[in-house]
Amino acid sequence: MVDLGERLAEAEQRYVERNPASLRAHERRARSLPGGNTRTVIHQPPFPLTIVRGEGAQLTDADGHVYVDFLGEFTAGLYGHSHPIVLEAIRAALDDGIVLGAPNRYETELAEAIRGRFPSVELLRFCNSGTEANLLALSLARAVTGRPAVLVFAGGYHGSVFTFVNPAAPNVNVPFPFIVGRYNDPVGTCGLIAEHAGELAAVIVEPLQGSGGVIPGEREFLHALRDTTHQQGVLLVLDEVMTSRLSTGGLQEVHALVPDLTTFGKYIGGGLAFGAFGGRADLLERFDPGRPDSFPHAGTFNNAVLTMAAGAAGLNRVYTPSEVDRLNALGDRLRDRLNAFAAERRLDFVATGYGSMVGLHFTRAPVRSVADIPAAPELRALLHLHMLEQGYSYARRGFVALSLPLGENEIDGFAAAAEAFFAS
Ligand code: PMP
Repeated sequence: MVDLGERLAEAEQRYVERNPASLRAHERRARSLPGGNTRTVIHQPPFPLTIVRGEGAQLTDADGHVYVDFLGEFTAGLYGHSHPIVLEAIRAALDDGIVLGAPNRYETELAEAIRGRFPSVELLRFCNSGTEANLLALSLARAVTGRPAVLVFAGGYHGSVFTFVNPAAPNVNVPFPFIVGRYNDPVGTCGLIAEHAGELAAVIVEPLQGSGGVIPGEREFLHALRDTTHQQGVLLVLDEVMTSRLSTGGLQEVHALVPDLTTFGKYIGGGLAFGAFGGRADLLERFDPGRPDSFPHAGTFNNAVLTMAAGAAGLNRVYTPSEVDRLNALGDRLRDRLNAFAAERRLDFVATGYGSMVGLHFTRAPVRSVADIPAAPELRALLHLHMLEQGYSYARRGFVALSLPLGENEIDGFAAAAEAFFAS
């Protein structure tokens, strides 16, 4: 039997020795930022690598090691690090001024591109992050329904003040009354909706739980939510912050779902800070400033020029339907290869997900909700440190998001490196 603790101590020792400049950078950051960190998700023991450069799908760290980027900035890095069309759009916008304090020409283009892809989005508003998009969508739902509560799912993540990945952990969530359902449990959830209909403003759901483990929502479950919320007069908010990339029209297109509101973020800003929420015109119209009863919604950077320009160029000129298909096929290739390898050897390992989003977990039982995923912290850390040594970067929690500069060679290289880990 392998002593995991001993193996991990050795692997961490090699990591510390290989990365002196990242260690120094971490120690310096820690004098200003708690734990050397301003973004919990990118923390990992003993310290994270400091990345100094990205190009295409390659990352270079402070000690000069080069990695193939399989994290893709948690889906926001869809275009890679230096897509010429996105860079050209940013440079062109830079030359015309970046803090105009007025509507600009790029926001129209980006809004039209989003509406063109997501027919349920009749009107939309921009903001600066996925967190903010969900805060606004749920605040709108509460205001229009006059009801306070929101139904969420264990394993869900909707932003830094909406985290339910581990509902028992300490958090700084917004003080909305939350009711927590079980993901992929249509009967239990519909019961909860009916029971709490009088206090529920909305149900918010990721059609595939990203941070919770890259767990696809089952079609029957998602449609049960749609039907029951409709019957009970509760709004359905689909959080497609990550999943909007999974077809040209997101997972709502894949599952033929029509939510009342959808939230967006990540890659849609071309790699710059971005968020948006949109949906039924009768709901979004309440933000029309010309109405006597309009809801206020300002935001200095809501139409940030560089974000709008980069995002419009990306959606209209780069992430075309054929590129959506190519990237999803690469994800299928990775998942299928790893799962065939694990099945042949009867390993406790599975690659989950859909298309270009992949989860890596140490179990062979079906993964339908966060409760099905073993924590396996030592195995996760060992696999991660091994993959870094082999030149592949992804998130230690087992999160992989592919980006457009990747091709079959990189996919096969990643799979081979993971297989070598299991062989050892
Ligand atoms: N919703 C989902 C599904 C997400 O994955 C995230 C970010 N990981 C958010 C919302 C929050 O987005 P942001 O980090 O831009 O605030």
